[in-house]
Amino acid sequence: MEKKELIYEGKGKKLFATGDSALLIAEFKDDLTAFNAQKKSQEKGKGALNAAISAKLFELLERNGVATHLIKRLDETDHLIKKTRIIPIEVVVRNIATGSLTKRLGIAEGTKLPFTLVEFYYKNDDLGDPLLNDEHALLMNLANEKELTALKRLARKINDILLPFFESVRLKLVDFKVEFGRDEKGAILLADEISPDSCRFWDALSGEKLDKDRFRQDLGGVKVAYEEVLKRVQEALR
Ligand code: UDP
Repeated sequence: MEKKELIYEGKGKKLFATGDSALLIAEFKDDLTAFNAQKKSQEKGKGALNAAISAKLFELLERNGVATHLIKRLDETDHLIKKTRIIPIEVVVRNIATGSLTKRLGIAEGTKLPFTLVEFYYKNDDLGDPLLNDEHALLMNLANEKELTALKRLARKINDILLPFFESVRLKLVDFKVEFGRDEKGAILLADEISPDSCRFWDALSGEKLDKDRFRQDLGGVKVAYEEVLKRVQEALR
């Protein structure tokens, strides 16, 4: 599939048109950003690692009944995807308290939550992706009531698949963020990516962080951590 003009460049990916108006190519970048892009860096090979991890996870989800935008991985960094209109809601799923949840509500870091928490954030860099409740989303017309229900159901379904999967490779899936898009018929597809940039993974034995917190918190070893996640994902999905 031929890569044509660049139609969008985000923090982690570039999107290119293709010869088919219904399909795009997503190229995963080596750029690392955190804190609404106030902190920036690059890690050579990170794009390829995320492209590999995300493709494996999307294939796993698809096999388990979650519709995704992924058609196939084309090469190291590129995915062929279905074109969707992205719903501007970041759906965050949490199993263990950390990050903004501990800061906002004072819940102790590392607390296992009594149930899986699903949160919505408004995808808007200028506003710093604020927390959103259902009524905010409705009054801003970001999605309708049926879609909000679907987003929550899909987010929990993804967690129900990924949590035991990562457990089987000795990783705690602490929390993650997913994004969804609407296809031309209005069906909701999992879009964007699922990778160590968008998830928190803690090693089940050592508690070591194997995700973007290594960059956020200047822990070093970002690439080694992402390589370890890919290795374990491949180990389980041979
Ligand atoms: N997350 C993300 N993109 C964002 C914000 C959060 O991928 O713009 C992910 C993040 O990696 C973590 C989860 O969503 O896995 C919850 O993040 P949190 O709200 O704790 O935000 P943070 O502490 O990273 O600001």
